[in-house]
Amino acid sequence: MQARQSPAPTAAGRVLCPRCRAVNRLPPDKPAAKAKCGSCREPLFAGRAIPVDEAGFELHLRRDEIPILVDMWAPWCGPCRAMAPMFEQAARNLEPEMRLLKLNVDEAPQTASRLGVQGIPALYLFREGRVLARTTGLQNAETIQRWARAHLAAPANAQGDLR
Ligand code: ZN
Repeated sequence: MQARQSPAPTAAGRVLCPRCRAVNRLPPDKPAAKAKCGSCREPLFAGRAIPVDEAGFELHLRRDEIPILVDMWAPWCGPCRAMAPMFEQAARNLEPEMRLLKLNVDEAPQTASRLGVQGIPALYLFREGRVLARTTGLQNAETIQRWARAHLAAPANAQGDLR
């Protein structure tokens, strides 16, 4: 494999407004971090992980053109609660390269089953609606960031299987 400088992260394309769920198009020539929703005027990226329900998750998955990183968690799970502030910290650093969502698997049994979520906390990284990578267990913000960026930098056809 050829060593290559990865390009500066861009965030052009469609993103869902986390507040009103309007679809916004990010102009490639403006900083995405400052973009506001054309419909409700809220910032599209507030440096926070967005809690979603099953329907909201599906909408983001279908509409967002930027990668999506999802924290699969549950309120009764101690390691999940321990990871929550780490995931928030990762959101501040990873936006607008990707959208960070939090999905309570107890309230999303269909999605959890479809994606084969077993242990939690589990991180799922999606690009163009497909699972790019997944990992399970408590991680700190730096590990989360490194893991997500490494998978996004890898060529899409070199991911292998999902284990
Ligand atoms: Zn909006």
